Amino acid sequence: MEIVTSPDEMTRRAEGARKNGERIALVPTMGYLHDGHLTLMREGRRRSSLLVASIFVNPTQFGPGEDFARYPRDVERDCAMLETVPVDIVFAPEPASMYSPDSQSWVEATEVTRGLCGRHRPGHFRGVTTVVAKLFNIVKPHFAVFGEKDFQQLRAIQRMVLDLNFDVEIVPVPIVREKDGLAMSSRNLYLTPAEREDALVLSLALRAAREKHRTGACCAEEIVFAAMRVLKRMKSVTVEYVEAVDAETLASDPSLERPILIAIAARIGKTRLIDNTVLQP
Ligand code: AMP
Repeated sequence: MEIVTSPDEMTRRAEGARKNGERIALVPTMGYLHDGHLTLMREGRRRSSLLVASIFVNPTQFGPGEDFARYPRDVERDCAMLETVPVDIVFAPEPASMYSPDSQSWVEATEVTRGLCGRHRPGHFRGVTTVVAKLFNIVKPHFAVFGEKDFQQLRAIQRMVLDLNFDVEIVPVPIVREKDGLAMSSRNLYLTPAEREDALVLSLALRAAREKHRTGACCAEEIVFAAMRVLKRMKSVTVEYVEAVDAETLASDPSLERPILIAIAARIGKTRLIDNTVLQP
């Protein structure tokens, strides 16, 4: 496994690989990897002859007061995990080589990022789509793998690829959970043992939503209410939002005749967690 830190060097490697007829898959991450990330890597491995994992804690997707500085970083540990897949190239650039101080261009998917996390984290998705566009230009992948854990991010990137004619196939991967149901996340590390227990309430709320949907809900609000009732029982949890939206467009007031996304963002202590589920008609 090779570690590349220079964007130019990464592009040279990608161009060489393309000339040799290789199929390149890219799995973008912010590092501090867990089994969810490795599931994405294995999906990328299956589809490619050159598998690139990027590790980059992207400053432009963090707002003021968010956890950019304290986001967990351990590239050595990550590389040991990536060797097991195996990954061919780890692309781990420094922020200074990704953004020049006078950089002034952005990529933004508008409608799809208005609600949900977009409402609560202004500028976040603009940072995400911008860095992913840059990674696509640098790594030149045929495939890029993203987790449904960050469902709105997945939809924003699919939108960007469609709108801007990126020649990349986006491969979604379902949420990978701990045995007890908690969605895997690098931020779970922040949780104290007591908070870790309380955090289960997110997946329990989604289970209640699924059950309400299965047994015949009259409308999306009734499903959201079922999830909210479970979340409210946990006093240590501050709900940022629980919403039902159209799973394709993320528009509000979804029809139960189409797949709907139930998405939750909540704070357990100081830690912000997200989770979601898609309900089929
Ligand atoms: P991150 O390092 O948190 O930016 O995540 C990198 C990629 O891994 C994104 O596409 C995430 O959606 C995906 N991911 C993170 N956690 C999970 C999970 N529990 N299940 C599936 N995909 C995940």
